[in-house]
Amino acid sequence: MNKAKYVFVTGGVTSSLGKGIIAASLAKLLQARGYRVTIQKFDPYINVDPGTMNPYEHGECYVTDDGAETDLDLGHYERFLNVPTSQANNVTTGRIYQTVINNERTGKYLGKTVQVIPHITDEIKRRMLLLGQTGDYDIVITELGGTVGDIESLPYLESLRQLRWELGVDDTCVIHLTLIPYLKAAGELKTKPTQHSVKGLLELGVQPDILVCRTERKLNQDIRRKIALFCNVKQNAVIESMDVETIYEVPLVMQKEKLDKVTLSKLKLSSKSEPDLEHWKDFLFKLDHPKSEINIGLIGKYVELQDAYKSINEAFIHAGAINECKVNVHSIHSEGIDSFNVGEKLANLDGILIAPGFGDRGIEGKIEAIKYTRENNIPFFGICLGMQCAVVEFSRNVVGFKDAHSTEMNPKTKHPVIDLMESQKKLKQKGGTMRLGSYKCELAKGTLANKIYGKSTISERHRHRYEFNNEFMEPLKKNGMAMTGINPENNLVEIIEIPSHPFFIGVQFHPELKSTVANPHPLFVRFVRAALEYSQS
Ligand code: GLN
Repeated sequence: MNKAKYVFVTGGVTSSLGKGIIAASLAKLLQARGYRVTIQKFDPYINVDPGTMNPYEHGECYVTDDGAETDLDLGHYERFLNVPTSQANNVTTGRIYQTVINNERTGKYLGKTVQVIPHITDEIKRRMLLLGQTGDYDIVITELGGTVGDIESLPYLESLRQLRWELGVDDTCVIHLTLIPYLKAAGELKTKPTQHSVKGLLELGVQPDILVCRTERKLNQDIRRKIALFCNVKQNAVIESMDVETIYEVPLVMQKEKLDKVTLSKLKLSSKSEPDLEHWKDFLFKLDHPKSEINIGLIGKYVELQDAYKSINEAFIHAGAINECKVNVHSIHSEGIDSFNVGEKLANLDGILIAPGFGDRGIEGKIEAIKYTRENNIPFFGICLGMQCAVVEFSRNVVGFKDAHSTEMNPKTKHPVIDLMESQKKLKQKGGTMRLGSYKCELAKGTLANKIYGKSTISERHRHRYEFNNEFMEPLKKNGMAMTGINPENNLVEIIEIPSHPFFIGVQFHPELKSTVANPHPLFVRFVRAALEYSQS
């Protein structure tokens, strides 16, 4: 078994520099050279996982096959690498402390005083090494959340310092992502913030090997020399990271700057072959040269925040490229939609997607939008809460159950067409208790879903507490709604369609979580095509 090597990515100067994208891009390049690579993220907050956080706080919550609620950077890792992540790929301070405190309660520390060093740092190091010890990977990239200088990041940087000594310098590489701001008034790029943030790292005993410098202007040789001189790195280890149009260009930009080569040489690994990025470049070419254009309405309640529907937006990019079609996603706040303005709000859209979500804010707007979409034969795609709203709308306006609702919004309705799952009824604890992760689903023959997937059994990821209430199956079927995807173990309805409509599909699961550059999700691919046909008709 090969011993894994470890790359750590830290951040300095400011947050939001794109550590996740740099980590994913490096991983992509190393993978394209034939290495087996995985990425993990360590987040310094005290929540055990981001599952309990409001999307406004933290953007989308990404769910893995094994049902972990994780940071949205894991979505980038999967979309770039096309390799699934798991519970082990995202660790938080909350989880570390939870483990240490549980150990203490069960007497594992044999009467010792439990302290940040060594107990917390030992637990961090154990988890940093976990994926590397499976034998499945040659290189493990660990992204450390937060910014150097944060109080919360200290135990992680201390663990990193210890690990470098324990593993040996040839087995580890530290990449520090930093910002080189341009001062308009001085007409200059400034290196001082970077010098300070590297000093911050040095004070903690960590010397970075590579600096990735985020910048709006090109770094000339002088600047590179200066950064190298002040920060004790080789000049070829000063990597320029200019702003680009799409995150999918970053691997190519990093390849040009030789980030992969410098990393491999630091780790004393051979470069193997040149990276095979043919498919990736083909994707980028199609993305840059669309032959058509469509407008999709994304209707939800977190529309002000781009990151809230990250995976949906990315899935549209993948699906657009393969259809050689530019997909303009227009975020529309469901709270602003009513029966009077719905036509105007949804004018000029070629397809409507109703987003996942929780709680009743903006629900009636979603239901109005679905009614309009259904009656006007506009392609419709509902995800999770979006699917549940489609069932409510149909029950009210087609079947005639005027007060139909989900019991999440109206627990007293006489027609609870969406109801809390039996398994959820006795739960008191909030975090990690939804129906999470991958479950199987059987598709009925000849249905739209069956045609889209081209197979009869699928597996998709979930995150919900409510479900289609099977007591209402008959009246809905009789009136023209079809339940075309069913979980074989518990009969839970996973997919609904309206076969008389040109394209109307709602899914209880989250297909967006499985769309990658290499494998755009078939539901998004077909939805884009349906919208394209609609726009041309
Ligand atoms: N609130 C709904 C439920 O819990 C839908 C969840 C979602 O859209 N992810 O079932």
